[in-house]
Amino acid sequence: MSRKAIIAIIILMSAAVIGSSAIQLFWVRKSLALKEKTFDDRIFITLNMAKEKLLSELQSDIKIKGLEKKLSTKDPIIRKQLEYEIRKDEVLSDTNSLENINSDHVEALDNFMKKELRDNQGIDLEYEYGIYSNKTNSFLIRDGHFVVEFGNSGSTSTIKEEDGLESTPYSLPIFEDLSVVEPGYLKLYFPKRTRYLWQNLLPILISSILFTLMILFCFAYTVYIIFKQKKLSEIKNDFINNMTHEFKTPIATISLATDSIGNASIISNEDKVRRFLGIIKAENKRMLNQVEKVLQMAQIDKQEITLKPVKIDINDLVKTVAENSALKVQSRDGVLDIRLNAKFPVIEADQTHISNIIANLIDNAEKYTKEIPHIEVETSDDKDGIKISVRDNGIGMSKEALKHIFEKFYRVPTGNVHDVKGFGLGLSYVKAIVDAHGGRVYVKSELGKGSIFTVFLPFKS
Ligand code: ADP
Repeated sequence: MSRKAIIAIIILMSAAVIGSSAIQLFWVRKSLALKEKTFDDRIFITLNMAKEKLLSELQSDIKIKGLEKKLSTKDPIIRKQLEYEIRKDEVLSDTNSLENINSDHVEALDNFMKKELRDNQGIDLEYEYGIYSNKTNSFLIRDGHFVVEFGNSGSTSTIKEEDGLESTPYSLPIFEDLSVVEPGYLKLYFPKRTRYLWQNLLPILISSILFTLMILFCFAYTVYIIFKQKKLSEIKNDFINNMTHEFKTPIATISLATDSIGNASIISNEDKVRRFLGIIKAENKRMLNQVEKVLQMAQIDKQEITLKPVKIDINDLVKTVAENSALKVQSRDGVLDIRLNAKFPVIEADQTHISNIIANLIDNAEKYTKEIPHIEVETSDDKDGIKISVRDNGIGMSKEALKHIFEKFYRVPTGNVHDVKGFGLGLSYVKAIVDAHGGRVYVKSELGKGSIFTVFLPFKS
């Protein structure tokens, strides 16, 4: 996949995620607004009905009062007098109706609103209500009680200022149609209104946020995998180039050597033939080593490494492997010390793999040493197994490099010493094999001073 395509996908995907989030947000806001409107409408319906109810009760009260008075006398003069009073009463009640409200009205109002809200409007929500008088600029009734004023009215209104009934939007003028001098307001306040409105929307909002996050996570992970795969395929290409190059040299040399042997003047000279045979053998061995490395890679690629555990004496094994590698070290005037300190050297492990990893570690120790190599290979006892360590006086590694050396194909960029070729596979193979045996591999290293690799293997894997 080309870089451009990946970037295009990232842009498209981001746009899609942002777009769908915006749409979801838009819908949530819209449905919240709708809910709010329905809620408000219902509250105003209730308020209107409550107001009507209050007014009609007040009016019928006045009539009853009048009737009672009318019934109580038969004297025409007194009756006239009474009729005048009733009218006065009615006028009074018109202009000053708020004061006609008594506690029965308040209770009836409360009951009515409770029932209306719950049964007819479907709003089963705690509320506060009050009747506000414009004359005194304070509540006449609130929370079902008449407000008793202490001192001036200003102080009473400040006492409960913050509880919301003062500034509630659910406020309806009463007596406004009766051309009154000072009307009042019937007010309703819902302390839990916001929570009520969000109640159904919140789970939707939260789950949509969660889903979006899930998409984002999967997307980020996919992009990460794409980049990783891309890098891996680049590395594999490098590896193939590298490998072809590594094979080409010995093949060319062998071809040259055989051509030379075929030459009439050489084929009769036994010494020369032997020299060329030696070259062919050496190059052949070099190729074999390369093949071995590739096979090792194939081993790590397999998810499970199949071990063939047998009883092996690690001291013997280390000795054999180290002696094989010693030639190379000696050819550079170096020394390879072998210290077989383990008293219990027999473990159950896969012989071929263990030989390979010891050889890899010694190879690296030699490869990554600029000076005259001084390599120490040591075996020692450990609590539940055995330890093999390989110490060198080589170039060492930085802390940053140490984090990666066990990764497949990783090579320290500046690690090449006198044209050492490698595939970056040796240590990842070591780690894979040690892990398969249930062991551990540690490394201590300092730039310019040298490194020490320690492998712990349990007695039984
Ligand atoms: P390769 O040797 O084929 O590059 P390895 O997996 O064996 O791959 O090693 C990975 C890298 O770790 C090497 O490229 C090298 O830079 C670094 N390294 C390994 N062993 C040593 C060592 N003994 N001293 C310094 N650097 C080392």
